[in-house]
Amino acid sequence: MFKDFEEITENDYRAIGFRAGLEIHQQLDTRQKLFCRCPAPHPPYDDFFHIEIARTLRPALSELGEIDPSILMEFKSQKQIIYKINRDTICTYELDQSPPFEINQDALDIAIYYCLKFNAKIVDEIYVCRKYHLDGSIPSGYQRTAMIGLQGFYEFKGKKIHFPEITLEEDAAREISDKYHIREYFTDRLGIPLIEIVTEPSFTSPQEVKEFAEAIRNEFLATGEVRKGSGTLRMDLNISINGSERCEIKGVDKISKIPILGYNEALRQWNLLRLRDALHTRNITPENFKATVYDLHNVLKHTFFYPIQQAIKNNGEVYCIKLPNWAGFLKWPTQRYTTFAQEISERVKVIACLTDYPNIIVSDIIDNTISREEIDKTKKFIGATSNDGFVIVWGPPEDVQIAIEEIKNRAYEATIGVPSESRRALPEGTTAFERVLPGPQRMYPDTDLPHINISKSRVERLRLKLKESFSDRVKWCEAFGFPPSAIKRICTSDRYLLIKELVEKFRIHPNFIVRIFLEFLPFLEKRGLKTKVLTNEQIRTIFAMYSKGEILRTGVFSAIEFAMRGECDKIPSHLYPATNDELEQAYNQAVEFLSQNRIYHNEKRAEILTGYIMRILRGRVEGKTVKEFVAQKLEKENGSNWI
Ligand SMILES: [Zn+2]
Repeated sequence: MFKDFEEITENDYRAIGFRAGLEIHQQLDTRQKLFCRCPAPHPPYDDFFHIEIARTLRPALSELGEIDPSILMEFKSQKQIIYKINRDTICTYELDQSPPFEINQDALDIAIYYCLKFNAKIVDEIYVCRKYHLDGSIPSGYQRTAMIGLQGFYEFKGKKIHFPEITLEEDAAREISDKYHIREYFTDRLGIPLIEIVTEPSFTSPQEVKEFAEAIRNEFLATGEVRKGSGTLRMDLNISINGSERCEIKGVDKISKIPILGYNEALRQWNLLRLRDALHTRNITPENFKATVYDLHNVLKHTFFYPIQQAIKNNGEVYCIKLPNWAGFLKWPTQRYTTFAQEISERVKVIACLTDYPNIIVSDIIDNTISREEIDKTKKFIGATSNDGFVIVWGPPEDVQIAIEEIKNRAYEATIGVPSESRRALPEGTTAFERVLPGPQRMYPDTDLPHINISKSRVERLRLKLKESFSDRVKWCEAFGFPPSAIKRICTSDRYLLIKELVEKFRIHPNFIVRIFLEFLPFLEKRGLKTKVLTNEQIRTIFAMYSKGEILRTGVFSAIEFAMRGECDKIPSHLYPATNDELEQAYNQAVEFLSQNRIYHNEKRAEILTGYIMRILRGRVEGKTVKEFVAQKLEKENGSNWI
């Protein structure tokens, strides 16, 4: 038995031979795109566009003369692609109307930097290649990609995770809808530089993949050369178990979803292998597989089942595919809450473009569709016994013909096991068929761009820039006693190196660092101030003054506000610590103020005096000092009354 998600353990995954590899695509934080000079917009993206362009995909033979299976699939689906274009983020390059510009050197620097960070060998010469994508996500039909590093690795929980290749490539367009024969994309993201890291299939549980993805994301965040926010880090998971073919889950954009996605995929593959064995025991094997097709038009032409009724009204067709001996197998469980019928339905949806649900009726799950009488008539018409299964499909004639082929194909594949395919991650943690996996041959040298030499001096310059890894930073934070809850944010802060300097050079207490960087600056941001304008140099100067006693702890807060208003020169003259005389003066003013106002609660006298003095000497005296001063004064006054 396959355990529930809540109960499954690492050992259970090991027992079924779970294997996973991870592909990480991370957007780099450059001002411009990779092969043109368009601005690289930051997410969140909006839905604004000026124009729409429609294209039809035409698959071509590969240079070896073969048609790639994924290309054939796109050809069958006959999709029209609509690009929604915002002129401010796109030029003629992205639309394949003009050749590429020289590669973005900033992006190349960042890519080399991460290759060094992940211990990869940097190639001497970069050759840009074209990687074919026939789904329409790139108007030219191919993505420009360049291998930068080889044989990288990352030490993770005592294990070396290898990255055979690290590449720099351009991001694809953002799909927004896919219905009938039309697929729509927004093009804002198109062409933004990405770094792609592909691991070997080294992971033995989904939890391990998740922890690894977190570690890599932290490394990215710790170095600060990448984009942050949703959609800027996207992952593909490659999963197999003993006896199955590898399937790829695409578009995982939340690390927290990896465990449930990995669970569902392992469960699906495990169930499909059991289904295969069950089919074999009924002698349904690849050699003996049979499926016969019947035109159901006359049987169902008066049906009240709305989808079929509409299809017939619109000159569509209704067909039935009989699967001898298949009774019970169409409701075979696959993922949590899904059955084998869904595997068929997804193929029909994606390849035959019958995108309205329900798009099929299967004999095992027939309630609430056609009537009992119609079921009996259908069974009689196709000569089905209670041992047989069948699938009914309807729609425009050309689509139905493709659907019939796909239904037969998918049922046939069940007799072999787990078809190798690319699947889309759904928000609820399950996956759905997306496309057939492309063959290995889809990369060709790009003839539009010259090769680029990477000089030794360039690599050395970037090596010098290498910052501490995330785990080194964590160790440093722990050694200096930062509160555990703050460590991750400190380590991924853009100002980490400054923070380190403040602690080590000026002996600033970690708690004070947390107060300023994780509480006070975000608080100012919330009030609408842009704390980015505050330079590290300004912060350094303020803490230098504090460490020399030229301003007090409370003065640091005020000084930061001065600096943000561009009034740094006022810090020394306005925030020097108050002298005793000044405190005395302020106290007298406060007493004067009290004498003119009625106090209803005499016990609050000390509190009111303290608050008043703090306002006069704002940023120049600590609250604690004033409190003690006031307490002493009042004690003296009270004492004198007694004499
Ligand atoms: Zn452009």
